[in-house]
Amino acid sequence: MGTPTVLDEPRAIDMHAHQPTSEFLHDAGGQMMKDAADRFGADLEPDTYEHMLEEYRDAGVGRAVLLGWDAETNTGNPPVPNDYVAEVRDEYADFFVGFGSVDPLKDDCVEEAVRCVDDLDLSGFKFQQIAQGFDPSDPEHEELWETIEDLGVPVVFHGGNSTLGACSPGGRGLKIKYGNPMLIDDVAAEHPDLKILIAHPAYPWEKEQLAICQQKGNVYMDLSGWMPRYIDDQVLQYAQTLLSDKVMFGTDYPMLEPEPWLEQFAELDFDESIQRKILWETAEEFLEL
Ligand SMILES: [Zn+2]
Repeated sequence: MGTPTVLDEPRAIDMHAHQPTSEFLHDAGGQMMKDAADRFGADLEPDTYEHMLEEYRDAGVGRAVLLGWDAETNTGNPPVPNDYVAEVRDEYADFFVGFGSVDPLKDDCVEEAVRCVDDLDLSGFKFQQIAQGFDPSDPEHEELWETIEDLGVPVVFHGGNSTLGACSPGGRGLKIKYGNPMLIDDVAAEHPDLKILIAHPAYPWEKEQLAICQQKGNVYMDLSGWMPRYIDDQVLQYAQTLLSDKVMFGTDYPMLEPEPWLEQFAELDFDESIQRKILWETAEEFLEL
């Protein structure tokens, strides 16, 4: 098998995985997900967790962060419920780390965030600002960031453009400006104890993302959502040098799958010590595993 030698021990941690089931692909994804799938040739056929775990095991991946999704106010689609994320995490507790999602436009988002950690024992939060239709730097969300900082768990923010709604009239009303990482810089500056992961090389704002990751000790990024061959050269350069302690592995499963991703990553021929950092060492620290 063509995976890198550092993966002989299955320690890699995928920082970005979605459910391969209809809860995510059909219910939460709705028409905007169909647009993306039509455009990029992805397959929206639901799959099982058993098959998912088998794919990960074959690829040499030991764990994955399973993300919640609640963009109900902005999209009208139902959420992937936090209780469901916790249930799946419980069933495969040695594999999944569960991250909840709260809709910042809902009145009870702060209470739901507390419930996710205190009652459901979820390990962090995922925000998708474009689908959720909000600006994280807007002072109206201050109480939410303060609460999550106090809860002591990390957050994942979406970074860059989104393929959701691709090529549909008006992009289904989604606004990509909310994916600009500069909006996260404000949150990071005001909440130094909040650990933040900007998901994906944040096309077309990779330079901004690299600048924030350099300047803010509490901000990290992952390589999910892009096959390694297509990741911006400067991102790959920084991942091996200045930001080698800040960049983590992620796929965006089931849109991208671990084995082909890791095969392309191995082709980049990064130093083995750097591969270990990207594939699991930084993630273990970030998630406090
Ligand atoms: Zn994703």
